[in-house]
This record gives sequence, structure tokens and C-alpha cells, in this order.
Amino acid sequence: MIEKIDHIGIAVKSIETARKFYEETLGLVCEKEEVVVSQKVRTAFFTVGDIHIELLEPTSDDSPIAGFIEKKGEGFHHIAYLTDNIEKQIETAREHGCKLINEKPFEGAGGKQVAFLHPKSTNSVLTEFCKQNISEGV
Ligand code: ZN
Repeated sequence: MIEKIDHIGIAVKSIETARKFYEETLGLVCEKEEVVVSQKVRTAFFTVGDIHIELLEPTSDDSPIAGFIEKKGEGFHHIAYLTDNIEKQIETAREHGCKLINEKPFEGAGGKQVAFLHPKSTNSVLTEFCKQNISEGV
């Protein structure tokens, strides 16, 4: 079951530069910065009520985020739905003919289990399912 929108991902060239808007103009608090080595990306999470803004900065030229920025420029990258059963969510999407980017969940930022659906199947909106690891608490 989808529980809520967990976060919205925004691709940026530099977190250092981009965070000024979120911190100084919007007055949001950065809860954490983290490098996700497997995705070649540095992330920064800002809290807005009970959802988050995830800034994504490429850590190398062959990062998927570098490719995205090269093609489309900085901006909206993905929407992430929190689910209580990520395997079931992936299976349901597959049954409904969605093209999957990840057949199986992998470990993303914050130790969450994450999996992406291809934007071709989702009105061009890169869609992420994520699930909190039990061991991480809520
Ligand atoms: Zn995300």
C-alpha cells in the first residue's frame, strides 16, 4: 500500500549553491547530506512538513544525474512514494504493464529500500517506491 509521498527529487549541479534557496529563502532545515556511492550521487534532504525535498548532485560525469542534467538541465527529477511493501508494489506495477528500471529494490539514501519505474510508463515522471528499513526506525 502507498502510504504517502515521501520526497521529491530535484537534480542540481551543486548542492552547495542550490541549498541557499532552500535554507535561506525558504527557511528549511537540511536534515542530512549523504553520498550514495552506487548511484554516483550526493544527496541533501530538507524537511517540509512530513515530506522531504531531495537535492541530487552528480559525483562523477557518468552519474545518471549528470546525464539527466546534460539532457534536460537542472530541475524536477523524481517523485517518491513511501510503501509498506516494496516488492508487492513493484509486482503490481509489473502486472499493470509498467516498465521497471529496477526489478528488485536496492539500498538508497538513508538506508531505505528503493526501486524506480521508467518514466515511459508514468507520464514521463520518474517514479520511485521507497520503504523504510525496519532497523532504521521510522
Ligand atoms: Zn529519491
